[in-house]
Amino acid sequence: MSGIEVNGCYLARSSDPDTVEEAACGGVVTELLRYALREDLVDVAVCVERGIDALDGRPVVVDDPAEVPSGSYHCAPTQLARLVAELHREDPELRVAVTCRPCDARALERLAERDLVSLDRVYRIGLNCGGTFEPRVVLEILEEHDVDPLDVEREEVAKGNLIIELRDGEEIKVSIDDLEERGSGRRESCRRCDENVPERADLACGNWGVPDEMMGKWTFVEVKTEDGRDLLAGAVEEGAVEVLEAPERSVRIREKIDEIMRKMARSWREKTLDEDHLAEALEALNRCIKCRSCRQVCPVCEACEEEGCWAFAGRESVTPTPAWHAHVAQCVALYCVECGACETACPAEIPLTRIYSVLRERLPDLLDRIMEGRRASAGE
Ligand code: SF4
Ligand code: SF4
Ligand code: SF4
Repeated sequence: MSGIEVNGCYLARSSDPDTVEEAACGGVVTELLRYALREDLVDVAVCVERGIDALDGRPVVVDDPAEVPSGSYHCAPTQLARLVAELHREDPELRVAVTCRPCDARALERLAERDLVSLDRVYRIGLNCGGTFEPRVVLEILEEHDVDPLDVEREEVAKGNLIIELRDGEEIKVSIDDLEERGSGRRESCRRCDENVPERADLACGNWGVPDEMMGKWTFVEVKTEDGRDLLAGAVEEGAVEVLEAPERSVRIREKIDEIMRKMARSWREKTLDEDHLAEALEALNRCIKCRSCRQVCPVCEACEEEGCWAFAGRESVTPTPAWHAHVAQCVALYCVECGACETACPAEIPLTRIYSVLRERLPDLLDRIMEGRRASAGE
């Protein structure tokens, strides 16, 4: 089928020059969503559209191929999995194509484990992700350059830089390492994230490995599953998408970038999940203003609804107390996908994911020890 194979790596772009121009990396993701809707492979596409400005990416559900938005949004919330769960709660038969970062894809899997999402009715168009930013970080950069957010055409992350393209064609390029040395940069949970190529998606799309001369106009696509293969092959056969076999050098460069990102993530984990940072996060819980936003945005808290802790999860009027935080921590530690949405939503800037991550790292050991104790007492 068009020579597209599972585990194959390709360079791809939209066949429509206007879409290539409009989109961040050749518009292949936009084109795949449009193709899936046009061919009635799905009922709706779930993706992100521009809100007031380019920093304001908003989740959207569309059923008309002409309405599929394009663009990349590194300040957008990661709540698309939650949106899919809401759609499947209303109609479990709904066929969906969703763009997903690795943490969205992990959340979809967690929700599917609890039958809250039917993965066999979902095309997961994965997006590589090296990290996202709180909007205030980008706003500070714009302020330093005296730029109105409304003058931003689009933003992109490439080769370790945050690139902000303005409507007048100018570009602001900031090194992410420099930002992070100044205590700014990517969200804390993103720095620790070591899954940058989505492993649990049907396709993994991104700009890593795209040759310099094609950068911004093509996307590197890895086919992860048979569904991904059929989707890409169908779009190619229909003439909506052009593909080239990815050169060996592109594949190696992409692997190298992934390796570097994983190494950086491991080092951030060591740096930010130590006793001192944990103590700081626990102390910060005293700043909680009891708004419950952290639970309302959590994609995996959807899973709690069926299990009676809906109130604790924050949907009902239970006041967050230390007991509430303790309950949430032990509950979400099991399912947390470390997306950082809770921290983004927290007006008191409490580094919640540190607590959940530490608990999550210690839980398997704790569970093993409990099982060992059980086996010992049973004389096994
Ligand atoms: S946690 Fe951050 S870096 Fe990891 S996939 Fe999600 S948004 Fe991307
Ligand atoms: S607890 Fe926070 S980091 Fe974990 S899945 Fe929920 S919103 Fe994401
Ligand atoms: S979002 Fe922050 S302030 Fe609000 S309940 Fe959660 S931890 Fe407390």
